[in-house]
Amino acid sequence: MDAPVIDLLQLYPRDMNIYGDWGNVLVLRKRLQLRGYDVRLHEYNPGDTFPDQVDLIVGGGGQDSGQNKIQADLLQLGGRLRELADDGVPMLAICGLYQLFGNFFKTHTGEVIKGIGLLDVDTVGGPKRLIGNTVLESEEFGTVIGYENHSGQTYLKGGTQPLGTVTKGEGNNGHDSTEGARYRNVVASYLHGSLLPKNPAVADFLVRHAALRRHGSFDDAPLQIPFEEQARQDAAARPR
Ligand code: GLN
Repeated sequence: MDAPVIDLLQLYPRDMNIYGDWGNVLVLRKRLQLRGYDVRLHEYNPGDTFPDQVDLIVGGGGQDSGQNKIQADLLQLGGRLRELADDGVPMLAICGLYQLFGNFFKTHTGEVIKGIGLLDVDTVGGPKRLIGNTVLESEEFGTVIGYENHSGQTYLKGGTQPLGTVTKGEGNNGHDSTEGARYRNVVASYLHGSLLPKNPAVADFLVRHAALRRHGSFDDAPLQIPFEEQARQDAAARPR
């Protein structure tokens, strides 16, 4: 019997892919393969045709200039992405893409880069970049570890839930201890590093929902990767 297929889409790898974010794609692909899935990796850049079948979407951070380059394309894709999110497609949006999954990013120079409003969050650039190793506590995923580097300060609106509460670092805005945002099976976070190699619980959440939605079942048995927990502890213990 052929292996079950998962279609994994990386959004804007050319312009939105910094501080190791490509590692998130590698981890998702590897963990899916270890669980017996045949992974079709699609890269979507401005002007490309959006694939008909998409099970899992991941996108990274970018400079303000990279965010500007994708803005128009992302806005015309917004309706499609919101529909997919509402339909339960798991997505991971890091930093610059997290900001543009929200309502807008007003940069520190006063320019407004519009977002798609998939998440009810607003971002305003501050005078000081928020940079360093970051640790947060999440009810769903336990301790989440990463690295942040952003000028944008994001505020959760309405009932938008954070990914977690910061115990080391700045998080969404350096003021309210929140980090990231959650909606349906969408995980948004400022954490690079990359996020998923250090946080297999988040990776498996995305993989599980992709498999359940496409194939109706998922074997939750842990992957038993021996160095994983040690690597997490080492990363969590780094100074800011
Ligand atoms: N350009 C955005 C900011 O500075 C996002 C940065 C990033 O993706 N690391 O806030």
